[in-house]
Amino acid sequence: MANGKGGGRTAPRGQLRAVAGEALARPSREDAEDAIRTLIRWAGDDPVREGLADTPARVARAFEEWFAGYREDPLQYLARTFEEIDGYDEMVLLRDIHFESHCEHHLAPIIGRVHIGYLPNHRVVGISKLARVAEAYAKRLQIQEKMTAQIANCIEEVLQPKGVGVVIEAAHQCMTTRGVHKPGVLMVTSRMLGAFRSDPQTRREFLALLDRPNPELR
Ligand SMILES: [Zn+2]
Repeated sequence: MANGKGGGRTAPRGQLRAVAGEALARPSREDAEDAIRTLIRWAGDDPVREGLADTPARVARAFEEWFAGYREDPLQYLARTFEEIDGYDEMVLLRDIHFESHCEHHLAPIIGRVHIGYLPNHRVVGISKLARVAEAYAKRLQIQEKMTAQIANCIEEVLQPKGVGVVIEAAHQCMTTRGVHKPGVLMVTSRMLGAFRSDPQTRREFLALLDRPNPELR
């Protein structure tokens, strides 16, 4: 038998390797559920006992919900704009948009709020669309800094406003339930573009609006 050719030999494990171009190939639902069973065994429990028998299927369904953002195109949400705004050129602010995400380092939940402000340039977008943009990026594996920048960049790219500001405040369960075990810590990130970056007054106005209590909360 000739050695070293390797022709025609299939190596199932090789499919899991991050080969360029194949890295994003989606495994089957069955593969995903097997992986959950492996993690349950790794944790020290028996994945076939009654209480855990349906867990892999449930976790797979939960993943579909938690990571739905990979199947969404946030840029699309901002494609439809309104131009009949009677010369409105003041700041538009959508604050306290609740979100749930997962940190890409531990798959642990990140739960918090996004605030989005922009200065329209002759056109505005439906406010629910801003929330959808935030949601589409949240429902992916994230780090908060990246998510903040992605939301701001998306709005700038599609809407081309005079400026945009995004602030995210969030608690990271990888910090509260493991590692340093520090509950109550809020991480705050911001990205300011255009007038929000260059004009101190716009920036101040944005931050002052965020500072006011929200009567809709609590
Ligand atoms: Zn983490």
